[in-house]
Amino acid sequence: GLDITWAVDWVRRSAQVVSDHRIELITLDREIGDGDHGENMDRGFQAVLPKLDDLHAGSTPGDVLKLVATTLISTVGGAAGPLYGTAYLKAAVAAGDSVSLDAEAIAGILTAARDGIVLRGKAEPGDKTMVDAWTPAVDAATAAAADGADALGALQAAASAAWEGAAATEPLVARKGRASYLGERSAGHRDPGAESSALLLQAAADAAA
Ligand code: ADP
Ligand code: MG
Ligand code: MG
Repeated sequence: GLDITWAVDWVRRSAQVVSDHRIELITLDREIGDGDHGENMDRGFQAVLPKLDDLHAGSTPGDVLKLVATTLISTVGGAAGPLYGTAYLKAAVAAGDSVSLDAEAIAGILTAARDGIVLRGKAEPGDKTMVDAWTPAVDAATAAAADGADALGALQAAASAAWEGAAATEPLVARKGRASYLGERSAGHRDPGAESSALLLQAAADAAA
């Protein structure tokens, strides 16, 4: 199963990919939003990094997820801050005090994260939001776990489905968030939050490999 080392590596890799893709996320958000998504996410994950030093020998993956949640809530702002904050908070609750997460547990934390985003933002699949990356990711991880995949396999299935889901937001008309103000003009652009979600899920899989 995946332990604290994986969780910490996931956070470090998340900070790295968000920083590497900062401009891309800004550009996507400039097309259909206010252009701050890359900046918001980079600020949030950079703020998590020094806090990893507060973890101790007995810390669990759930503790790491909770640290990410509280930091993102207080630093990211915009729509994405509370949405991702809720996602990581619900994931932390689902992880509980487990020291090691198997494929089923991984599917469980991803499901909790997605449910948190939906609870907070009320978006449905097809509304052109991060939910369009998370929902196929949850479905793929759940199916992989049921098929006997290990935790890495579940995360790889999730990441690959998230990329497809993010790409599939391009033709959609936004029905939630700032992009919905554009109506039909939001079609033809990829949703920035779906893209950042795919980056984060890919980082989770890469940390497990
Ligand atoms: P803001 O739009 O406030 O500037 P960000 O640019 O950081 O916030 O984040 C925008 C992203 O948030 C969108 O691309 C979309 O994926 C996501 N988002 C916005 N509203 C919702 C919602 N109600 N439910 C789910 N995701 C949403
Ligand atoms: Mg924005
Ligand atoms: Mg904004």
